[in-house]
Amino acid sequence: MVDTHLHLRRDADACFTHIEGCGVTHAVLLTPANDEERAKQEMEKGRGRFARSVAADPAGPNAGRVFRDALSGGAVSMGEIKYHLALESPEMRRLYDISAELQAPLMMHIQNFPHFQGELPYNTGYPQFDKILKAYPKTIFVGHADLFWAHISADVPTDRGYPTGPIKPGGLTDRWLSDFPNLYADMSANSGNNALLRDPDFTRDFIVRHRTKLIFGSDCSCTDGHGAGISQGNNPEAARLNGKCVARATLGLLKESTPAEIFRQVTWENANRVFKLRLQYPLVSHSAASRHGSYA
Ligand SMILES: [Zn+2]
Ligand SMILES: [Zn+2]
Repeated sequence: MVDTHLHLRRDADACFTHIEGCGVTHAVLLTPANDEERAKQEMEKGRGRFARSVAADPAGPNAGRVFRDALSGGAVSMGEIKYHLALESPEMRRLYDISAELQAPLMMHIQNFPHFQGELPYNTGYPQFDKILKAYPKTIFVGHADLFWAHISADVPTDRGYPTGPIKPGGLTDRWLSDFPNLYADMSANSGNNALLRDPDFTRDFIVRHRTKLIFGSDCSCTDGHGAGISQGNNPEAARLNGKCVARATLGLLKESTPAEIFRQVTWENANRVFKLRLQYPLVSHSAASRHGSYA
């Protein structure tokens, strides 16, 4: 299993501890451009278990150069992109062009309802995102976060970020995943977990329908892969996951909702294909295996 949404942590080995604890074999470390060297060190020590992304402010000076350099230097994707910009802004369009040119996935945090007072929305204009999907057929879009997942239902309440209860068919995200080959869905965080849990009958068909488009990720910040510490930052709206590891919770949910073949697609094959990871399993690193137990 690959966790495509694991933020690079301050402490060396903390990412390794998390993947081992939750039973994931590999991870994409979400890496701000400034932390590239630290991510490289983690990758070195992780012996083939880690890849890295690159993130930077798309409106920053030389943003295009920063992304291009990191991608040509070994980053596998751009993300996460979480800034107060419009999805149709020139800054974001520059990233769409880079994604298309270098065939690197672009993972975006799409959220409008605030997690705390005064929080501004990220990647705004999602209801019109089909225009972008049409205009950039070669870009590899990976959607993530509250509003992206709220739109698997046709009715999206405006008074909360994580709607619960039965899903009304015809949601934008559901339709666009069917209509546009260039759109994928990152199942991480409370947003993905909540969306897949809220209506089990809908979820079973949704996963089958989009079996080549759904990509597992955790966005978990628990310390041990078992739920210690704080798993969803200081987001009070995501309190339902307190004391839980998001990776474990979502993997458990997927296991219950899907046959083994589809589970493998959404937790392994899709990530490998879309992120071009070339990961190896069973793991071949003898020293890591003997140090940490057997994974084969
Ligand atoms: Zn996010
Ligand atoms: Zn965790």
